[in-house]
Amino acid sequence: MEFNKEQTIIGLKVLSDNVIWLWKKNNSVVVVDPAVSQPVIEFIKSNNLNLEAILQTHHHSDHIGGTKKLIKEWPNIKIIASAKEKDRIPFQNLSVKDGDKLQLLGEEVQVLEVLGHTRSHISFYFKNKTPVLFVGDTLFSAGCGRIFEGTYKQMFNSLKRIKSLPNNTLIYCAHEYTKSNLLWALNIEPDNKYIKEKLSEVEKKISLKELTIPCLLEEEMKINLFLKADNLKVFSYLRDNKDLWV
Ligand SMILES: [Zn+2]
Repeated sequence: MEFNKEQTIIGLKVLSDNVIWLWKKNNSVVVVDPAVSQPVIEFIKSNNLNLEAILQTHHHSDHIGGTKKLIKEWPNIKIIASAKEKDRIPFQNLSVKDGDKLQLLGEEVQVLEVLGHTRSHISFYFKNKTPVLFVGDTLFSAGCGRIFEGTYKQMFNSLKRIKSLPNNTLIYCAHEYTKSNLLWALNIEPDNKYIKEKLSEVEKKISLKELTIPCLLEEEMKINLFLKADNLKVFSYLRDNKDLWV
């Protein structure tokens, strides 16, 4: 998205469905969850940018896989990750916890812990006029992350926390899963007109080879069944149902 002339967030689609976000301000850039390094290096060099920091939401290899090579190119950058993950995110040199406030690109960014997908997943919240949340694998457009290490309750509470953010928050998730999530959601709520409308919009974007993310929190409240679930029982039913859906 384009905040203004100086500030933008660019998405690089890599691997089968990962998106690496590059938050750029003037000549500096922050990279979120570099699954791989090469396209990031090419982008930064071809645009004559300075890499300031890497943000890591969690330890999965399709989020930290490119970090080692980026450090080789830029040895002095900050690698920001959860203090609980010193073993599994080995290159971190700025260890953070829930509620910590960081200065990145001259802006204040808050660390929000959002457990469930892993036991120490964090997200990064930038409270701009249009607020931004780099949410990793916790929330996707029309979906949410699988619960690998945490509990249903932790994930439900993480989504509750995201719901409490301003409704104009843009959610920068790490995977392009939107279409399959919408097809599943339509299977559960066949008459939901918001999901139908979103599906045709998303199909159009995909045919134009455009990203379907970031997504807007206000819209997700209408199409994302996990966010709409108002109690843990419904949420857990949906998560189990989605895990089995092909
Ligand atoms: Zn993951």
